[in-house]
Amino acid sequence: MTEHAVAIAGGGPAGMMLAAELALAKVDVAVVERRPDHVLAGSRAGGFHARTIEVLDQRGVADRFLAEGQVAQVATFGTTVLDMSDFPTRHPYSLGIWQNQIERIMADWIAELPVRIYYGREVTGFAQDDTGVDVELSDDQSLRARYLVGCDGGRSIIRKVAGIEFPGWDPTRSNLIAEVETTEEPPPGIRHDATGVHALNTMEDGRTVRVVVTEQQLGLGSEPTLSDLSEALIAVYGTDFGIHDPTWISRFTDMTRQAAAYRAGRVLLAGDSAHVHYPAGGQGLSLGVQDAVNLGWKLAQVVDGTSPESLLDTYRDERHPVAARALRHTMAQTALQRRDERMQALVDVVSELASMDEPRKRLAGIASGLDIHYDLGEGHPLLGRRMPDLDVATADGPVRVFELLHDAKPALLNLGEPGGFDIAPWADRVQPVDASYEGEWELPVLGAVPAPTAVLIRPDGYVAWVGDRTQLGLPEALTTWFGPPAA
Ligand SMILES: Cc1cc2nc3c(=O)[nH]c(=O)nc-3n(C[C@H](O)[C@H](O)[C@H](O)COP(=O)(O)OP(=O)(O)OC[C@H]3O[C@@H](n4cnc5c(N)ncnc54)[C@H](O)[C@@H]3O)c2cc1C
Repeated sequence: MTEHAVAIAGGGPAGMMLAAELALAKVDVAVVERRPDHVLAGSRAGGFHARTIEVLDQRGVADRFLAEGQVAQVATFGTTVLDMSDFPTRHPYSLGIWQNQIERIMADWIAELPVRIYYGREVTGFAQDDTGVDVELSDDQSLRARYLVGCDGGRSIIRKVAGIEFPGWDPTRSNLIAEVETTEEPPPGIRHDATGVHALNTMEDGRTVRVVVTEQQLGLGSEPTLSDLSEALIAVYGTDFGIHDPTWISRFTDMTRQAAAYRAGRVLLAGDSAHVHYPAGGQGLSLGVQDAVNLGWKLAQVVDGTSPESLLDTYRDERHPVAARALRHTMAQTALQRRDERMQALVDVVSELASMDEPRKRLAGIASGLDIHYDLGEGHPLLGRRMPDLDVATADGPVRVFELLHDAKPALLNLGEPGGFDIAPWADRVQPVDASYEGEWELPVLGAVPAPTAVLIRPDGYVAWVGDRTQLGLPEALTTWFGPPAA
């Protein structure tokens, strides 16, 4: 039986990001992907938001995505665009880029890393014991891994076999999504009515039309036909525009559910396997990528014995509330898409509120993920928040803070007296960086915060400890996050 330290079921955005994180941390990782390769039928998601661009920037690969996509202010609430161009980040925007491009770029990236991928195979089940997991594959082979992570999407078999509950809300609305050719030119743009939202857009090739249409009746099942699409279009537009030659037809609903647990023993969930929702607001892909970035370094430290297994519980503690909040906002946005006259009145009121400065900032903070605050206790406002990508000066020259995180290693950034902090017992795990910084400290939504003397930055870019001239609490924070001191 082939053995790996970690097996990941599913090589979508969450699975690939997790594989990259584990490989950067030198963990022997394998991905099992049902598709024969990374080609994704259909364009699917239309991009991701600012914090996801930042986490990719932390690994030095954001430019690959930025080069193929289009930056824009597209985060919305109701009908209001949440302009975040005044947020203190290098990336105060969202990135428009189709999921099939995103997955191709990610696949190229992980091909540069020591990641084993088993394409064209499905995980069909597993059995775990005290030391590992036997992972059954569809070709009658099996893998043995110390941990298994289900990144296998909303219908996750890993979640089901693990017996993890998936409470939430049943679907009330369904949409067909398709890429087709038409004989008549459809009117481009978005239309709202009492059933929901509909959109027609001619794609880059000038021939294919991307159709998103809300069905008159809730449709279930994932294999809709061209005649289902034709019927749905006629109900909304009075014509089906002569649709033909579909390259992709799919259905999605507003089913909203979240896994009650993110871990059952040696089995974990990340991405859509842990949470599903309507795509209003475009949160899904970002949530999954950031789940992976939160989990990757923790799992790596547990696998190599640096940290106890209890570190994995912080993954659920931190990420469950983030997804729960996104689900709530998505449901609110989905409700606002239905437009009869009474709903229009509500949409108008919400739009008025959302365009005021304070609500705009709060909603943009949520949509972008830039306001995420993991509860790491009382203290400086930076604690548990994302470390800003400051330009700092070091003895070796200027450096961006995100560059320190390219190898997914934690850093103690000392902005006070050089050598002022003793982290020798953790020197094998944490990079000490003496630097100076003269500028403002400003966080999205919160605004200016007091300048710290030192910050302990986790590999996912969140601040684990903030120092004000003394070492108070530093050894404890190092032990909590990066294991006990070396003997
Ligand atoms: C129409 C639409 C528009 C969307 N728009 C946006 C948007 O603008 N922004 C956004 O952020 N999100 C959007 N989303 C959501 C986004 O597509 C998902 O949230 C995202 O793909 C989830 O990534 P994932 O890796 O968790 O799961 P998935 O992308 O579902 O990947 C799961 C992978 O696992 C594989 N797999 C499944 N089962 C098995 C198995 N048993 N064994 C092996 N492999 C398996 C699958 O082949 C797949 O590759 C949209 C979704 C839809 C449907």
